Amino acid sequence: MINTHGDPMPKHIVSGLKYIAAVNLTKQGHSQREIAKALNMNRSTVSHYLNGRNLSWRSIEVAKVITEMCPRDFLLLTHSLTQNTEMTRTIIRTCQKQKFQGKVRNSCIGCGLCVDTCLMKAISLRDLKAHIESEWCCGCLICVDMCPTDSIEIKEVELDGNNRSN
Ligand code: SF4
Ligand code: SF4
Repeated sequence: MINTHGDPMPKHIVSGLKYIAAVNLTKQGHSQREIAKALNMNRSTVSHYLNGRNLSWRSIEVAKVITEMCPRDFLLLTHSLTQNTEMTRTIIRTCQKQKFQGKVRNSCIGCGLCVDTCLMKAISLRDLKAHIESEWCCGCLICVDMCPTDSIEIKEVELDGNNRSN
């Protein structure tokens, strides 16, 4: 599972990310059937992964480093590796330790740019105003950079319940 230079190949890093997500989903009480569906795998592969089989530990180490990157890099790198938006959403939501809260100001003109841009599919338009489903927001801030009216505010929710502005 290692290339001739000793580095994990992209598909093996994806396996490492899936392994970390599968372990976390198991801790959250999900069945192997649910995990297989969420990560687009078959059940026997999930079972092998959870038993530490068919995996390169170097790939898992690299995957762990990716999960600890800043939210934007974690999101974009995972999406680039998996080429799969749904799997990316599952991996990010399952493996990211931080939580975020998004708000949209009244200055929103409903242009929809943020909706099209959000890889986590956390934004929708309601009555021609953007609405953010915070439980899916990973704090990448791409929507903040994209919004032409500076209408989006994303805050990290700290464990003590306070918010930290971005
Ligand atoms: S990009 Fe800004 S103005 Fe456009 S819909 Fe999103 S929040 Fe509203
Ligand atoms: S920061 Fe914006 S673009 Fe990024 S996940 Fe949250 S809502 Fe989506």
